[in-house]
Amino acid sequence: MGDIMKFRYFLLPVLIISIMIFVLDNDTIVVNKEIVSGTRNISYPFFDNDNVDNYISKYLNSYSDIDNLIIDYDYYHNTDNYYVTFYKYINNNNMIANDSDTFLININDSYVQKYDKKDILYQYDFINSRKWDNTKKLVAFTFDDGPNYNTSRVIDILNKYNVKATFFVVGRNIKGNEEVIKKMRDSDMEIGNHTFNHLLLTKYDEYKINSEIDDTSNLLFSVTGDEPNLFRPSYGVYNKNIKKLVDYPIITWNVDTLDWKYHNSKVITNRVINTVEDGDIILMHDIYRATANAIDNIIPLLKDMGYEIVTVSELFYYKGISLENGKVYSSVR
Ligand code: ZN
Repeated sequence: MGDIMKFRYFLLPVLIISIMIFVLDNDTIVVNKEIVSGTRNISYPFFDNDNVDNYISKYLNSYSDIDNLIIDYDYYHNTDNYYVTFYKYINNNNMIANDSDTFLININDSYVQKYDKKDILYQYDFINSRKWDNTKKLVAFTFDDGPNYNTSRVIDILNKYNVKATFFVVGRNIKGNEEVIKKMRDSDMEIGNHTFNHLLLTKYDEYKINSEIDDTSNLLFSVTGDEPNLFRPSYGVYNKNIKKLVDYPIITWNVDTLDWKYHNSKVITNRVINTVEDGDIILMHDIYRATANAIDNIIPLLKDMGYEIVTVSELFYYKGISLENGKVYSSVR
């Protein structure tokens, strides 16, 4: 008992001093901590405020009955408010499902407010909260060159089957299609960068290559509030110089539907179904009607074949591969 008390008296000033240093140094700090593995002994951010601590404690204890739960938290704060996000992971057959909750805590009046998911101010890019049986084979759908008038229909069909996919969008096509981009985001699709003008980047200098990438990321951020995490060069063409310049993992593909050439949903369907293997990345274009028709056939067929259709980030995440900037990935075969 005495040791515990001593420890607390030691810890408290250290904590206060650390927070003061951070506050003086910078108005906002970000902290990442793991609270607990197994949830039997929950501790949590220490606010030295009964109202706040009780609120958080009650929230955390509501999960104490769940086995194999890991809760992780991040917070950042300014002078008045803390924004704390708790990430909940359940380890299930080596497939991790997650969910998060964010709270605003006002230190001055000890007010705590739980955010609606949609209003979260500070959010990490996270793998979607989905879990499935790990005997399933995984395949990633990618759609390039949009958005255009056809993209919304592609999203509707994906939503009909509860499928998430990755869209590599072209910056210059975003203007006038902002609502489509928001629909992608709200449908939990992954949005990647596919340059601004769809140029053959290997023919341009460093300045132009950077602006092609940055302009698209900035525009996506202004529309969705999120930066993309992945890059696909136009035509899938890259060289050493581009790999050096790009601050994203470079994603190509290993199954090409050639939908731009055939415009025929049966041909597109057969090209996928006859060649697909676990870990593949499939190239399609959301800008064609035949492609939308094709996925309406392909998705149920793949599901019957034991496949789960995922985003590119999910594919690598669930295959245990962490993506590195400037490296090229075409599949997980
Ligand atoms: Zn393209």
